[in-house]
Amino acid sequence: MKAWTLDEPAVVTERFLRLNEVPAPVPAADELLLRVNACGICRTDLHVVEGELPVRRPHVVPGHQIVGRVVSLGSRVTDFVIGDRVGVAWLNRTCETCEFCVEGRENLCERAMFTGWTVDGGYAEFAVAPSAYAYHLPDEFDDIQAAPLLCAGIIGYRCLRLTGLELKDWNGVRLGLYGFGAAGHICIQLARARGAEVYVCTRDRSRHQALAGELGATWVGDAAQEPPVKLHAAIIFAPAGELIPVALRALRKSGVVVLGGIHMSPIPAFDYSLIYGERVIRSVANNTRQDGREFLTEAARIPVRTHTQSFSLEQANDALIALKTDSIRGAGVLIT
Ligand SMILES: [Zn+2]
Ligand SMILES: [Zn+2]
Repeated sequence: MKAWTLDEPAVVTERFLRLNEVPAPVPAADELLLRVNACGICRTDLHVVEGELPVRRPHVVPGHQIVGRVVSLGSRVTDFVIGDRVGVAWLNRTCETCEFCVEGRENLCERAMFTGWTVDGGYAEFAVAPSAYAYHLPDEFDDIQAAPLLCAGIIGYRCLRLTGLELKDWNGVRLGLYGFGAAGHICIQLARARGAEVYVCTRDRSRHQALAGELGATWVGDAAQEPPVKLHAAIIFAPAGELIPVALRALRKSGVVVLGGIHMSPIPAFDYSLIYGERVIRSVANNTRQDGREFLTEAARIPVRTHTQSFSLEQANDALIALKTDSIRGAGVLIT
């Protein structure tokens, strides 16, 4: 099969990702073999390719938002059949025995495996995945629409959950979003459907700010601009530590800043008064399978509409460069 492999991390413009002919993977007893139809690209792929995440599997195939069809099954798989349409996300497998798994916090598993980082992912024609961690995909979404739901969507859902705001009624809730790429443009649709007012702080007037306006933002401004009202919560999707004091300044007392990225530039020192008043900063690490299932159900009910820019499998390097230079409107997807 054709697969992109990372021989050595380097800045993405040096095109160190190579398209190779490699043997197709063989599913283990608890795994599915998928023909990949689409694979979303994510900022985390950039962190893998550029080495901000250390190499965990040499020559790894990146990609963790896989939409595919089951073409063969391991002998112990009972919950899928050949031909099923399946989604595979970042959380590839957990140990099910560490203290976090036992507490139901499998997203924090000490021995978790991650698709496209510690095991091969979906920048390829075929991929394998443990069936217990794969998702049945709602019919509301075609393959390209579904791909960005699998990381950008699920992580945005978990970020909303970790704001601590009650799920039932978000009328009157004022939510800030910092950064408006793949995750932001899905997250705003959930928050708006729940009844929240959304204040979007992002650079790029022509793409990100315009899309935020189209998706119903109450107010749109530059990344460092202060919204006109105090916020109950803010989510930072941009990997920029300097946005933390900016977002704290926009919060009302008791407000929460949720950090949605796996990697962030250093956080500058700031005055204690910015966090005083019982304000909270917390990160989001990965997701549980329950997050994934709940999110897909809610997204299908709304229904969420993902804005995507498609690339062929052969264009993976170009897609990553486009992501890095902020020139994708919505979410990028590789089509196999
Ligand atoms: Zn574990
Ligand atoms: Zn991701």
